[in-house]
Amino acid sequence: MNHVQAIRARLDEHQLDAILLTHQANRFYATGFMSSGTDGAALITPRKAFYFTDSRYTEAAGKRLSGVFDMGTVTAKRNYETLFNEVIASEQLRRVGFEDASMTVAGYRKYKERLNCELVPASDILKELRQVKDADEIRALTDAQRIAEKALLEILNDIRPGAAEREIAAKLQYLMLHYGAEDKSFDPIVVSGANGSLPHGVPTERAIQDGEFVTMDFGCVCHGYCSDMTRTVAVGHVTDEMRRIYDTVLSAQLTGIETARAGVTGKDVDAAARDVITKAGYGEYFAHSFGHGVGVEIHEYPNASSLNEKPLPAGAVISAEPGIYIPGKLGVRIEDVIVITETGRENLMKAPKELLIL
Ligand code: ZN
Ligand code: ZN
Repeated sequence: MNHVQAIRARLDEHQLDAILLTHQANRFYATGFMSSGTDGAALITPRKAFYFTDSRYTEAAGKRLSGVFDMGTVTAKRNYETLFNEVIASEQLRRVGFEDASMTVAGYRKYKERLNCELVPASDILKELRQVKDADEIRALTDAQRIAEKALLEILNDIRPGAAEREIAAKLQYLMLHYGAEDKSFDPIVVSGANGSLPHGVPTERAIQDGEFVTMDFGCVCHGYCSDMTRTVAVGHVTDEMRRIYDTVLSAQLTGIETARAGVTGKDVDAAARDVITKAGYGEYFAHSFGHGVGVEIHEYPNASSLNEKPLPAGAVISAEPGIYIPGKLGVRIEDVIVITETGRENLMKAPKELLIL
């Protein structure tokens, strides 16, 4: 899977002769070849596509990219700037887009000084393209979700009084890799009892106790695409208040999901879910946004937040993850990932959501 054609199609409207892609996620999106950090760069022109990397990656990159990309190897004597300048000269490139949102200041200074072209900020091109997923991307995202769900199903056997948050988090990572994930999409969050009020809490040695909630937020990478899911389960028994809070979060999530469709703004989706929590009296305990885009990166555009007044496009993939967090007491979050369609949405998540008391 590569997105050379889609990127190329955007060059004209931005009056660009080429776009230089150095950011890891954008490079992968453009080429379909994953390499870490700064180990590679792609240059896409209206007629050609180039991929430059060093000898550690040339064989693997060549297998993946040959036929579509002209390959070049960076050496001690021929650095990235030299290779770029050769293409700039041979293809007569004048205006070259670069990734202003992710390039370091040092990187920009270096390229501005040494490249024989005008560098034009162009991060928005990839940002916008990546918001709309194609069928291959949806398949990759779905595969990543299935693996996370398998891990969830199995980890439920380990959640019992005495088990440590950190132990559950470690095993979740193992299970996702075991079931075929390439990586985790972020460090799993496993928080129990009063720790649950920390939306992005770090798992501790704390032992899970009877009568508590355990919130697990985790995901993995499959075919280069991320999954993201949160389930909150109870251990032993729940109080009426715990049940009320859980039901409120679930109802808010379902309402947000029902509201989401192409043309509705991220702000409206967030507001619909938030309204349910506010009406139940817990408004002050839901401080974060309803959801974020998910794709090559775990957090990308578009967001389902009060700040996003743009309509969600068909093909956007967003998380749906309201929560209630009462400091010093407990927290509940439920998260699925949905695809926005012209007529509604499709939930990529199949795992059940009714309150589970283990
Ligand atoms: Zn999550
Ligand atoms: Zn999320």
